[in-house]
Amino acid sequence: MAKATGPERFEHLYINGEWVKPIDGALVDSIDPATGRPWALVAFAGKQDVDRAVEAARAAFRGPWRRMPAHERAAMLRRFAEAFREAIPEIIEHEVRDSGRLIVDARADLGAEVAWYHWFASLADKTLGTTVPMDDSVHCFTTRVPVGVVAAITPWNAPLMTICLKLGAALAAGCTLVVKPAETTPVSTLLLGRIAERAGLPPGVLNIVPGHGHEIGDHLVGHPGVDKVSFTGSGATAKRMLKTGADSLKRFTFELGGKAPHIIFADADLEQALNSATSSAWTNCGQSCALGSRVLVERPVYDRVAEMFRQRAATVRVGMPMDEATRMGPQNSQQQLDKTLSYFEIGRAEGAELLAGGRRIDRPDLAGGYFVEPTVYAGVTNQMRIAREEIFGPVAALIPFDGEEEAIEIANDTPFGLTAGLWTNDLGRAHRVSNRIEAGSVWVNTYRYVRWSLPYGGFKQSGWGRENGIDALDPYLETRTTVISTTGQAANPYA
Ligand code: ADP
Repeated sequence: MAKATGPERFEHLYINGEWVKPIDGALVDSIDPATGRPWALVAFAGKQDVDRAVEAARAAFRGPWRRMPAHERAAMLRRFAEAFREAIPEIIEHEVRDSGRLIVDARADLGAEVAWYHWFASLADKTLGTTVPMDDSVHCFTTRVPVGVVAAITPWNAPLMTICLKLGAALAAGCTLVVKPAETTPVSTLLLGRIAERAGLPPGVLNIVPGHGHEIGDHLVGHPGVDKVSFTGSGATAKRMLKTGADSLKRFTFELGGKAPHIIFADADLEQALNSATSSAWTNCGQSCALGSRVLVERPVYDRVAEMFRQRAATVRVGMPMDEATRMGPQNSQQQLDKTLSYFEIGRAEGAELLAGGRRIDRPDLAGGYFVEPTVYAGVTNQMRIAREEIFGPVAALIPFDGEEEAIEIANDTPFGLTAGLWTNDLGRAHRVSNRIEAGSVWVNTYRYVRWSLPYGGFKQSGWGRENGIDALDPYLETRTTVISTTGQAANPYA
């Protein structure tokens, strides 16, 4: 990719298969969180642009996309997957510059997304219906039909991964989309338009409109031309969306926040558990809904684990995300940085014992970037705000417990229920405890094992519905029941 001297320019929205300038939007800076400086200038859509995008998506839904045989749609998705693979060198740096994700993580993610798109392609022609036995007078069957136009609204922590799960499933189901990436990470998602072109997607099937959530995000959610909203982001935004979408009774799926327990029993292999618990608490600079941010440690090994955490914090290589050797990059935005710094204050005020970190990083080579130290608190109780609220910073809160019952009680004492981890060498305990954890994904002696074939989503306030897995298309499908009389006889009730 040619290196631009000034900010790179992405002045067009992707609507109806064309690259168009915003009608009532604007050009907005995209900030590189590693430097705090603008690296790109990006087209943001206004409401009229969103109207155009919805109209294009509706027309495509009624027209070529709806009529395309499912196996051809599957083939097109396979082409999309391969075009995505070929585009990785072209788009990976955009993902890193916008989000501050590590290049090493982005490479792994984008490679996996190829497999994800292929998985969705493989589901596209398997939306089978059923025949329902009644009696000889009727033939009853169900068919699965796409819900229509989907608004996919995504967050900034993993832009291309979060859109992949929605885009792949919605296209496979036969829906069309209007995609709105987060304000701070518009660019890599916008470039999916190029991939759509290379894959030969009909115009209007995929439309991409960066913009402000409270403005065009809200407009999309309330739009009468949108049938369904698929959203990944914060619970507060999801609750607002429900109100906005109420008038049109929109279908919603939500993948929201978490405050995952990562439980370490005294019988665990501590070295392995620490490898997992530290990375799960600090990955992506703490900006993950699956973050193992509450580390529950059985009391006999608590002090040892706390000391190991403290030592590991000192070994984390914080640096520029494009550097292959870096293992922790910046927070995504000034706003997120401020939020994390505010929780350092809260942790102090609550009387948690700071074992490591707890500050913004002050290093000349990272000046201007939104970097914070990997942070560990000991002596945390589950009632403290640092244990209850999602921080989205690299903060591990170490909570002691005694025995299985207390571990389960603390683990479930949270409004969230997205993911959980536990480490034990006792097979019976692995089953007993995992069976009682209120979370959509439970990982035993591993963590963050997320794949295309495994359902992913939240219990409680962590979401509605599941992404991935064999049922990934369900939220994008309606079931139609058809009853055909074999006799055509209808009695006159008024005779
Ligand atoms: P965060 O608070 O961590 O930035 P959000 O949940 O607010 O996370 O943002 C996730 C996505 O939701 C972004 O694409 C954002 O623009 C969008 N968004 C924010 N507010 C609204 C809203 N009121 N309606 C629709 N989308 C919104």
